Amino acid sequence: MNFKDYIRVIHDFPQPGIRFKDITTLLQNGEVYRGAIDELKKLVEAMNIDVIAGPEARGFVIGAPLSYALGVGFVPIRKSGKLPADAIEASYSLEYGKDKLAMHRDAIKPGQRVLIADDLLATGGTIQTSLNLIEQLGGVVAGAAFLIELNYLNGREKLGDMDIVSLVQY
Ligand code: AMP
Repeated sequence: MNFKDYIRVIHDFPQPGIRFKDITTLLQNGEVYRGAIDELKKLVEAMNIDVIAGPEARGFVIGAPLSYALGVGFVPIRKSGKLPADAIEASYSLEYGKDKLAMHRDAIKPGQRVLIADDLLATGGTIQTSLNLIEQLGGVVAGAAFLIELNYLNGREKLGDMDIVSLVQY
């Protein structure tokens, strides 16, 4: 299955110069969406994961079905102020913009092997911040899984020797 054919590229969104990778065109095709999750499942199966953590909002769209497929739990990484119980926070930057991410303090049990899942790896800032939060909670980041990786932003280099898998590269 050529997943790239189902991703729509929008130029100059949300600001001039950004080539936005719109995955809604992939998600709306049930066969292709399932195919992508099944493919990611194969790539991460050997990582021996206890739980998946995904940053809102598109990390939920990839992380939650992948959790279901692997039979492991899912933990949301949310923007500041959204989580109801006691949470920890860390700030992060995007290819465009800046924000804060948060996780519930009891989301990860010390020593659990965590897979971070998101739609796209750009600069790696979101994943680096997610890693920081997970490690503060005593989790071990086993790897990261993405639908898309923007090779030209070198996000992978920022993440050291983390085991990173992606289905489509630009
Ligand atoms: P980063 O922290 O730079 O790796 O950015 C990753 C997050 O920003 C991902 O969760 C994406 O949803 C979003 N993002 C960044 N750049 C793009 C892009 N060119 N197209 C679509 N989403 C993007």
